[in-house]
Amino acid sequence: MNKELVFVLEPDAGRVTVEVSQASKETVDSLADDLGNRVNLNCARPAEKQRYLPVLQARSTEPNRPQSEAFSIWLYRLYHNSVVDGPGRRSVIQTSGCSLRCRGCIVPKTHQPENGELVSISSIIAEVIAHRDDHDGVTILGGEPFDQPESVAELVSRLKNHGLHITVYTGFTIEQLTQRRQPSIDHILAHIDLLIDGPFIAELREGAGEYRGSRNQYLIGRT
Ligand code: SF4
Repeated sequence: MNKELVFVLEPDAGRVTVEVSQASKETVDSLADDLGNRVNLNCARPAEKQRYLPVLQARSTEPNRPQSEAFSIWLYRLYHNSVVDGPGRRSVIQTSGCSLRCRGCIVPKTHQPENGELVSISSIIAEVIAHRDDHDGVTILGGEPFDQPESVAELVSRLKNHGLHITVYTGFTIEQLTQRRQPSIDHILAHIDLLIDGPFIAELREGAGEYRGSRNQYLIGRT
């Protein structure tokens, strides 16, 4: 099977980023030799032996928080400097918990909510804002973000209050989401900038296009 490499050029910064998740170790080593200094970045597939949970407080440890702080979300990890999870350079909020279970999913560890932590949304916002100068926007992916729509709606509202570009990945199609007629889902869809929808289908992986895992997925909104 042909393996795909995705090159992302940033002329202003003079950087080249290569997305290598489908490439062999030999190919990656050879590329590193040709391109020079190499810095490993993150993508939705966790690097081996690495977890990037930020120092965030779990809800259960904050019993006296005011009501406005009492929103939390199941989070697998939060990472920065991704150039493959949406347009530009992104801070990425990866939720845990996914009911869809696509065959060949590259992030099976995110399927169980308990593989992440229940963390306050305020803590996530603080982490994202602390890195504001380092990113062009924020991406929310999973797991499946629409498995906890009330929390994600709250998260989206607070990110939008800071004027951030928001991309959301979902394994549902946009038709499935709108047919649910759920206020929190409608709120998310009305306030984000870009939705990347549809399940991962392994047979449709080649030629998926920018930011996508398989050819059935669509970019909906603005980049
Ligand atoms: S929706 Fe995403 S996280 Fe869930 S199984 Fe499919 S590819 Fe994996």
